[in-house]
Amino acid sequence: MASLTTLSTYAASLLGIKLSDEQIGKFERLTELLLRWNERMNLTAITDPADIAIKHYLDALTIARVIPRFDGLRLIDVGTGGGFPGLPLAIVFPGLQVTLMDSTAKKLRFIDDVAQSLGLENVSSLHARAEDAGRERPHREAYDIVVARAVARMPVLAEYTLPLCKPGGQVIAMKGTSAFEETAEAAKAIIALGGELFSLDEVTLPTLDNPRYLIVIDKIKPTPRRYPRKAGLPSRQPII
Ligand code: SAM
Repeated sequence: MASLTTLSTYAASLLGIKLSDEQIGKFERLTELLLRWNERMNLTAITDPADIAIKHYLDALTIARVIPRFDGLRLIDVGTGGGFPGLPLAIVFPGLQVTLMDSTAKKLRFIDDVAQSLGLENVSSLHARAEDAGRERPHREAYDIVVARAVARMPVLAEYTLPLCKPGGQVIAMKGTSAFEETAEAAKAIIALGGELFSLDEVTLPTLDNPRYLIVIDKIKPTPRRYPRKAGLPSRQPII
């Protein structure tokens, strides 16, 4: 697939990631499965393989710009939908344990099919709402890295993500041009939940007009027990 040769070139030149033939084969299979399942359910509005390679795969891999080493770490992708950004990270970094969480069970059936077809032993799926998982023992403060793309505005997303993150770990929110405004809006929530803004990185992807941003939040202390609040409350009454 020509689109994956382009992915390979950009991953190397922009991110210093060298994709093996086996990994390129897995991305090829992922594209096939994504397009096939997308006929039956709404996983992505992007259906051109060249766009998928840039807007889903390369975009997901930009997280490597802010995480120097993934080996031995646990990552959770909150609101993973069709598996982004979690699946490309799992393909490229087999030493990273990746949990893909979504509140919609049928999307996780797709994830399970992909994990099995691609032989991704470092992937598990979790059917849960972020607000519930953040209060449950196996998930609360259990992950080194918490990532999310296109799930909620930052004050809400802070309450979905920070309770899942270990003190000493990091939350990475992938955002578009609203990143600065959303970060300012979330200042109170980030502090209340035990976080501290570390950086806001601009990422320019080839062929895209608008820049993308990685908002990196350090988890500097435990999240108070009252958070996350009951499912639905963070989005109805964000901490602002
Ligand atoms: N992250 C993917 C991407 O960027 O392509 C999917 C984004 S999609 C717009 C948002 C996803 O977040 C949906 O699959 C939805 O079911 C999930 N979601 C929304 N609120 C959630 C919550 N509170 N807990 C878990 N998943 C949630």
